[in-house]
Amino acid sequence: MFISTAFDSGNIDVISADSADNIRLRIRKDNQSDFYQWFHFKLFGEIDVEHTLVIENAGGSAYPKGWENYQAMASYDREHWFRVPTAFDGEKLTITHTPEQETVFYAYFVPYSWERHLDLLQVAQQSAWVQQCVLGTTLDGREMNMLIVGEPAAHKRNIWITARQHPGETMAEWFVEGLLEHLLDEDEPVSRQLLDKTVFYIVPNMNPDGSLRGHLRTNAAGVNLNREWAAPSLEKSPEVYHVLEEMDAIGVDMYLDVHGDENLPYNFIAGSEGIPSYDERHANLEDSFRKAYRAATAEFQTTYGYEKEAPGQANLTVASSAVAERFKCLAFTIEMPFKDNDDLPEPYQQWSDIRSCNFGRDTLKAILDVVDELR
Ligand SMILES: [Zn+2]
Repeated sequence: MFISTAFDSGNIDVISADSADNIRLRIRKDNQSDFYQWFHFKLFGEIDVEHTLVIENAGGSAYPKGWENYQAMASYDREHWFRVPTAFDGEKLTITHTPEQETVFYAYFVPYSWERHLDLLQVAQQSAWVQQCVLGTTLDGREMNMLIVGEPAAHKRNIWITARQHPGETMAEWFVEGLLEHLLDEDEPVSRQLLDKTVFYIVPNMNPDGSLRGHLRTNAAGVNLNREWAAPSLEKSPEVYHVLEEMDAIGVDMYLDVHGDENLPYNFIAGSEGIPSYDERHANLEDSFRKAYRAATAEFQTTYGYEKEAPGQANLTVASSAVAERFKCLAFTIEMPFKDNDDLPEPYQQWSDIRSCNFGRDTLKAILDVVDELR
């Protein structure tokens, strides 16, 4: 038996892998941080033999509740991912699987590789509507990419979308892929209507270093980027520093920051009710968007989500609150599940790369619905 993690976003330590019925594993912490939850590894096993893979430190991970009712993902061809039986006893996460082929990949969620990210940019660039920009570099020396979609003009609203501040939340980049594919489809009326009135500024991966390193939540220096928006620095959080600088130069009329939530089996959004400048206009605008989002897709709901912040109690280090306050604009954190959407369960794949893409696509309809109210 052999287990490999020496690839893009690989993460697992092997304690022992002597017998198929007791493979002992640990998830590695993010560099210079105590966060961990993301795993991704390749098993060389035995066909038609049941393998028991035990992640022994699951109980100490960032979100232990995230393992309750969670089923790990597996793939033979790295294109098609499916769920495998998984149990959590409060401490250990046990995956039980009988491989049909000699090697199999396991992951916390469908990975989104750096190579796929680079492909996404180049494919998008083939559209006459797209300009690809580099905003700066990360601590590991990677490029911070942004796509501008549409022809900038004074009357157009500036819509900003960032994804994957937390690199282990790969569904966020799948969401962007689905949204982009639809936005760049010249035969799609929603997109053409949108691009008459808006320009999109899209950062598909806010945390390239964390993504490649197999982190859950932080960048190369162990910094949680979604707590850096009050005062980002080139030393600790260049990713945020560069994006915020660009936002200041261009302006923001609406901002969506895309994430995955480890615990809740639903899609939901978190608004800005706790920011100092929150007023009736902002509240009405948020209501309009929630209503439009519900109408756009049955994958979205407003019953379950984070507790609302009390007036004035927003954490202004968090991206969506910081941007909402700085630009007095509509801003949301979008959360998708690692498990399933319990309103619309699908037992084989549960929440997936494809559903994340479709959710991104349908988000465009909700944006179009509020676009005239944004200024
Ligand atoms: Zn997140």
